[in-house]
Amino acid sequence: MAAGAKRDYYEVLGVNQNATGEEIKKAFRRLARQYHPDVNKDPDADTKFKEINEAYEVLSDEQKRAMYDRFGHNVPGSGGAGYDPFGGADPFSSIFDAFFGGMGGRGARGGLQRGADLRYNLTITFEEAIFGAEKDVEFRRLEVCASCKGNGAEPGTEPTRCPKCGGTGEIRQRAPLFNMVTVTTCDVCSGTGRVISIPCRECNGDGRVSRKRKLTVKIPPGVDNNSQIRISGEGETGPQGGPNGNLYVALQIKPHSYFVRDGNNLFMELRLNVAQAALGDEIEVPTIGGEAEKIRIPPGTQTGQTFTLRGKGVPFLRHSGRGDQVIVTRVLVPEKLTDQQRKLFQELQSTMPPGGPGDNRDGGLFGRLKDALGI
Ligand SMILES: [Zn+2]
Ligand SMILES: [Zn+2]
Repeated sequence: MAAGAKRDYYEVLGVNQNATGEEIKKAFRRLARQYHPDVNKDPDADTKFKEINEAYEVLSDEQKRAMYDRFGHNVPGSGGAGYDPFGGADPFSSIFDAFFGGMGGRGARGGLQRGADLRYNLTITFEEAIFGAEKDVEFRRLEVCASCKGNGAEPGTEPTRCPKCGGTGEIRQRAPLFNMVTVTTCDVCSGTGRVISIPCRECNGDGRVSRKRKLTVKIPPGVDNNSQIRISGEGETGPQGGPNGNLYVALQIKPHSYFVRDGNNLFMELRLNVAQAALGDEIEVPTIGGEAEKIRIPPGTQTGQTFTLRGKGVPFLRHSGRGDQVIVTRVLVPEKLTDQQRKLFQELQSTMPPGGPGDNRDGGLFGRLKDALGI
């Protein structure tokens, strides 16, 4: 399905973007009851129910919600094969969570252990973070052993059902006096429910071998420092055929030599010499990912004055357009003067009134300090 065709999750649940967790839960329960396929016989109810579940799955989880608020349906990594930013939750698990407060316990995979998650630190350029990129990454990980197909048994043999637990991976004991059952992990098969009599020679019965993996990571435009892209199922494979862990690509962004980013805006310092500041000038300034632009500095420009290039900042993630490029001036007073310059400044000085204490009655110094500090 095209990402653009998806309805906004907040809209699906009929809540606004500032809704509390409790409001989201309430809205979800009401809609889930209304559209549950057991109750609602409308042919569209099933689709609607799944949509509601998916929205709740994301908005009820603080981390997923934050991701969604930042990236919308264009969550990092979405769009490519095997990419699954939200972990592909079972649509029916949420309803149990909402009604009964979670199920807990072992998953349905018969006790097979999941492989480890991997973290890959990837450094990208300032421009790549703003406009997106595709980057090749290469790393070693444990993958399914080709010889035994991951089950850990020497080819030609099969793992057999664990004799102690009968394949359940659990030992259940009923305490004689109390009506209580204690469940522990089977010590013979370590909970897998299977035993291997002749371990595979290639992997020593582990079902995995270390191999190099190369893949292309899609970086969506607008990511910020320390963003993490989750690539579902690209971590290590689990022992003896267990499911794969995930790969987390952690992004570090190289600083730019003159741009500083604040959300969707870019800031740049523009240095002016005293003559440019006093007389005004026309100056070419660089923009990110585009041509240089001419800006007019009016006569009498002071340090800290700003000039804005609209739409030359960082692209928005959830709608079209870009933030602004803000140019902040700084007037440089020369530290060293040539003889000629000294002469000219002396001449200039004789034409100007000397400086003195500032007039503070109009909130002068303190007001400017407050402005500068943004308080
Ligand atoms: Zn093997
Ligand atoms: Zn067992």
